[in-house]
Amino acid sequence: MSSKNTGNQTSQTKINAPKGTKDIFFPEVDKWQYVEREIREFFSRFLYKEIRTPIFEHSELFHRGIGSETEVVQKEMYTFTDKGGRSVTLRPENTASVVRAAIEHNLFNTLFPLRFFYIGPMFRYEKPQKGRQRQFHQMGIEVFGDESPGVDAEVIYGAFKFLEQLGIRDIRLLINSVGCGECRPGFVEKLRADAEKHRDSLCPDCQRKIHTNPLRIFDCKNQGCIAVSENFPKITDHLCGECDTHFRGVRESLDLLDVEYTLNPRMVRGLDYYTKTAFEITSGQLGAQDSVLGGGRYDKLVKDLGGPDICGIGFAGGMERIILHLDASASGGEKTVLVAYQDISFEKEAVKLAKTLWEKGITAYINYDSKNMKKQFKRGDRIGAAYTFILGEEEIRNNTLSIKTMETREQVNIKKEELDQWLKTNMYR
Ligand SMILES: [Zn+2]
Ligand SMILES: [Zn+2]
Repeated sequence: MSSKNTGNQTSQTKINAPKGTKDIFFPEVDKWQYVEREIREFFSRFLYKEIRTPIFEHSELFHRGIGSETEVVQKEMYTFTDKGGRSVTLRPENTASVVRAAIEHNLFNTLFPLRFFYIGPMFRYEKPQKGRQRQFHQMGIEVFGDESPGVDAEVIYGAFKFLEQLGIRDIRLLINSVGCGECRPGFVEKLRADAEKHRDSLCPDCQRKIHTNPLRIFDCKNQGCIAVSENFPKITDHLCGECDTHFRGVRESLDLLDVEYTLNPRMVRGLDYYTKTAFEITSGQLGAQDSVLGGGRYDKLVKDLGGPDICGIGFAGGMERIILHLDASASGGEKTVLVAYQDISFEKEAVKLAKTLWEKGITAYINYDSKNMKKQFKRGDRIGAAYTFILGEEEIRNNTLSIKTMETREQVNIKKEELDQWLKTNMYR
């Protein structure tokens, strides 16, 4: 019998996780929880409230929301027919779902302000690589109902500062305006005419896009296509008065908030729904500039999905990418205490001490089955204990406690009644 993971296994064969998915556990999971906590804490400052939408939706939502010509919809969606004969899709991104939910529950008329954040898994059938999974995770925010450029700048500022606060280095912000229903069609025609002239230098995919959606040629990763499109017309040279004024306003507000940016007229983003402001944040921390987060304004999406004529803006960041950029020390995890005892007869004292710590909100661990101190210390290293509280014969006799700082191996002896003071100095942030 073959041991290959065919999906057609007997109970004896090992079953692995599907390609492009990943199990997340200690110690990496500490980083996930750290970033998730930071998201909740940071974005609540701007009045964002969490929204949780289903991980699958009617396929039509993404066809209409993201655009039928996008790479995502054409090649990457996990679409299947359920037992009731409906076409459903595992969400490849979350903006369409948030908009769908807001329309469905009439949130535009009942909630204020309309500011959401989300964290969760998304699904795209792509070639798995470092930081890119088929089940990947995004964090993001959406704001509805404000078309002023100040909101765009505030959203971008939030994204930028959030990554900075996580300690991600060499962060760069790229911005562009992708125009609106007034000015973009004219630009697309100019682009189409230019692309047509260079048809033979484009890949077959881009040759097809000349007719369907020439803007998407800018997404192509083919070196030949990148070189050719370098000389295509720039959308920022063809903005209508309104888009031009809006884009200038965004830049002025970014200056006011001390956010540095680079203009990139080629950046059109991979989804069709963007209007006016589009932006992307990259980090050069791991070598090449990696895209960590991206977003933009989508003033027609709500209406296109059957809702009122209300504008929106938001972004999504890749959790895997963000976590890849975190420093090894950046888990924000709590300090852990190992409670060690020299003799089995001290176990009760050790349990009482651990109980005191737990009730004070401190992470504490007792290794019950290790009979000697050396073994307990070893376990302490494995759980990454910051301190070991030692109950030896002397400590029990004198009603004291020895505390060893694991990193420096320094040890102090304190009276039991001094414990509170010691904890205040050493354990609380
Ligand atoms: Zn315009
Ligand atoms: Zn191409």
